[in-house]
Amino acid sequence: MDKTAYENQLRKLAELSVRFGVNLQPGQEVLLTAPTGALDLVRLVAVEAYKAGANAVIPFFSDDMMTRARFEYGHDACFDHAPAWLYDAMGAALRSGKTARLAIYGDTPGLLADQDPQKVARATKSLAQAYGPFREAISSNSTNWNIIPYVTDGWAARVFPDDDTETARGKLWQQIFRATRVDQPDPVAAWQQNFAELYRRRDALQALALSALHFSGGGTDLTVGLATGHKWVGGGLALANGTVYAPNLPTEEVFTMPDRTRAEGRAVFTKPVSVSGTIVEGLVVEFRQGKASRITADTGEDIIREHFATDEGASHLGEVALVANSSPIAQSGVLFFNTLFDENAACHIAFGNSYDMNLPDGADKEKAGANSSQIHTDCMIGSGETDVDGIGQDGSRTPVMRAGEFVI
Ligand code: ZN
Ligand code: ZN
Repeated sequence: MDKTAYENQLRKLAELSVRFGVNLQPGQEVLLTAPTGALDLVRLVAVEAYKAGANAVIPFFSDDMMTRARFEYGHDACFDHAPAWLYDAMGAALRSGKTARLAIYGDTPGLLADQDPQKVARATKSLAQAYGPFREAISSNSTNWNIIPYVTDGWAARVFPDDDTETARGKLWQQIFRATRVDQPDPVAAWQQNFAELYRRRDALQALALSALHFSGGGTDLTVGLATGHKWVGGGLALANGTVYAPNLPTEEVFTMPDRTRAEGRAVFTKPVSVSGTIVEGLVVEFRQGKASRITADTGEDIIREHFATDEGASHLGEVALVANSSPIAQSGVLFFNTLFDENAACHIAFGNSYDMNLPDGADKEKAGANSSQIHTDCMIGSGETDVDGIGQDGSRTPVMRAGEFVI
C-alpha cells in the first residue's frame, strides 16, 4: 500500500470512528486512549472530533517500553498498586454522559510473556480493582464509546512473523482496513448493511425465548443455560437519550447473557487467548453447574488458572456470542492474537462479568443469573465445524447454526 492510500484510509478510519462508532455529539469531550505508536491516527481523530463539535479531546497514551520497564525495574510492592484516583475520575466523567470514550488498541501480544507470572497476575488484579468505576460506567451504557484497532510494530510482528516490519505492518493494515470496511467507498453504508443482518439474527434469537444453547463440533460438547429474561444484542447500541453508537469496529457478533449456574460439558477453544500479556494455547475447560471445574492448556496453563481464580465470578460465564464463520475476519484466515479481532471471527463465551445491557432495565440481576467479576475474558469456541442448537423452555431443539453458519 502506498503512502497516499494509507493516509486516505487512516483518515476514513478516524472519520468512521468519530461519526459512526462514537457518534460524537456536539459539546461532548472525548476521552481517548492509544498506544504511543498510534500518534498519526490520534491526530486525525482529534481533527474529526473537533469538526464534529467536540469540547475537548483528552489523550492518554500507553507505551510497551514503559510497561516493560515497570516489570524490569519496579520495586516489589508496586505490582499491588494502581492509580484508583485516575479511574475514579474517568468513571465519573463517563457516567455524566458529557464525555465520550474512544479507544485505539494495538497491544503487542505476549508483551509480558517472559516476565514473572506472579508479578503480572498481581499487577493485572490491582488494575482490575482500580478500574471498577470505569468498567461500571461502560457496562451500564452511560455514554457513547467506540474502540478501533491500530497496527503497531509488535502486533504486526506477531501476526506475520516471517515478514520484515514494513511488510508485516502493510499486510496487517490491509486486513484491518478490510475488516473495518474503510476500504469500501462508503464505509458507513457498508456497516449499516451489516448491522441490518445482525439485527435480523438478534431478533430471530430473541423470538425463540430459549432456555439454553448447545454447542457441538471439534471436540466441544457444551450446554450454556441462558439468563432468565435475557436480551440478545448486536450491532449498535442506544443510550437512554436515543443516541445510537457502535462500540466495536469491527463487530460481527450477536450476544446474550448466560445463567452463571447453568453451563455443563466441555469446551475446546479454537483460538489462542491473550491474557495478562501471555498467549494461552490449547485451552480446554470442563464446566459443572456453571463453574469451570477443570482447566487445561498447552501453554500458559498457570496464567489462565490464576486468571479464572481472580474472584468468584471469574470461573463462571458472563457472555455467550454467535458469529458466522463467513464473517470477513474468519474468512481472512488470519489469527490476529487480539481478542477484539479474533472474537469477531468465531462463536465465543466470556469468563467473568456479564453486561447489564443483556437484561431488561430494572431486572433482578441476581435472580436472572447474571455474573459479576473484575474480569471479562472472551474465549473462542467456534469454527467451520460448529453446530449450535437452541433449547427451548420445553426442551425442544431448534437448529441455530450448522457448520459455522446461521440457519435461523
Ligand atoms: Zn463478544
Ligand atoms: Zn466479550
